[in-house]
Amino acid sequence: MAEKVVFESARKSDADMRQARNPVEDKNVIEEVDKVISGAAESGATEVHLEPVQDGYVIRVREGTALRKVNEIPERLKLNVANRIKVLAGLDITKNRIPQNGYFKLVHGEKKLELNVYTIPMLFGESIVIKLSYKVSATMRLNQLGMQPAVLAAYQKALARGSGLYLVTGPPGSGKRTTIYASILEQLRPDQLALGFDPVVKYEIEGMIQGKPEEKSEYTFAEAIVALMRQEPDVAYIGDISSEPDARATIQGAFAKRLVLARMTANDSVSTIQNLIDMGIQPFLIVASLAAVINQRMVRRLCPSCRQPYPANADIEKEIGLKLPQGANFFKPQGCQACQGTGYRGIICLYELYKPNEELGKMIIAKEPVQQIRLKAFKEQTFTLKVDGIMKALGGYASLEDVLNCL
Ligand SMILES: [Zn+2]
Repeated sequence: MAEKVVFESARKSDADMRQARNPVEDKNVIEEVDKVISGAAESGATEVHLEPVQDGYVIRVREGTALRKVNEIPERLKLNVANRIKVLAGLDITKNRIPQNGYFKLVHGEKKLELNVYTIPMLFGESIVIKLSYKVSATMRLNQLGMQPAVLAAYQKALARGSGLYLVTGPPGSGKRTTIYASILEQLRPDQLALGFDPVVKYEIEGMIQGKPEEKSEYTFAEAIVALMRQEPDVAYIGDISSEPDARATIQGAFAKRLVLARMTANDSVSTIQNLIDMGIQPFLIVASLAAVINQRMVRRLCPSCRQPYPANADIEKEIGLKLPQGANFFKPQGCQACQGTGYRGIICLYELYKPNEELGKMIIAKEPVQQIRLKAFKEQTFTLKVDGIMKALGGYASLEDVLNCL
């Protein structure tokens, strides 16, 4: 027996759906679509493909990397099935000769999903792809991320200030969101208002209201940030900052007494500041608002059951530019049953924390070179990304090769 499926349209209420110009009330159609989507959600599929052929639709789902045929829709139901999906995703059903995309949400038993729908007109009708993303609650705490104790303590102390701008930076796919959500979990109190705006909402967090820009939205990301700040949140989370208006709206929001966390793509913690200056933000605004910058990388975690130690030598010391303690070992992957022969199990992250102080602030306002600021910052503060990485390699968590490659 299939579990109850509750659809939640992105832009239209149920009443709007009933009043759609081409009402798709046909019970068969609704049942067909529900069956396909709930079947996909049940099996944990990541995509549903409705492939138009001469006599209807062929339906295939992607589970892992492969597509598997699950159903066929006869020609007589073809248009209405397409329309049903388009109505759910808030698309215009009067238009089937242009590509469209939209999304809707779905609750399937215990699972919460967001379904992004992409259509494109083809020879035998509209080809439709539905991408399923499964919502998970953010549960990871800061002390579970694998930060060095000194980095963790310094970051927690910075967060405890409770206001200002906190930037989490790194390349795409470095686990920045996980750090941000863990930071929010650390700080958010039940009597506070938390608002988040991110192009992809990956996690849910109790007590936080989240949104994302719509494909056809008539406002810019920066305008959304300004509107979000006007609602006076105590904690605000802004997804990727990539332009001057985004950065300006975020920084201005951080001047009110609130905690503002934002994600940015950057190579290291100090060059993040340079990136903001390059975007056109005045250095004094950055100095006045910035509370901390985290920079991070994600690397494969060596399988603890089969990793192989090997001694560090003078060549390695030369390569990494550091003197290592006597008898230091690094580790390389091997492969066993526990890791399916890969040598790796899971991932770990490397972290670098930049905490501004008065002297560093003066250097930023004086537009001193990034390298000088970096040297000064990490002379007095916690580890650089490289030192964190080498410590984790010496601890057997990651291979030295992976650490050096990601820096
Ligand atoms: Zn193994």
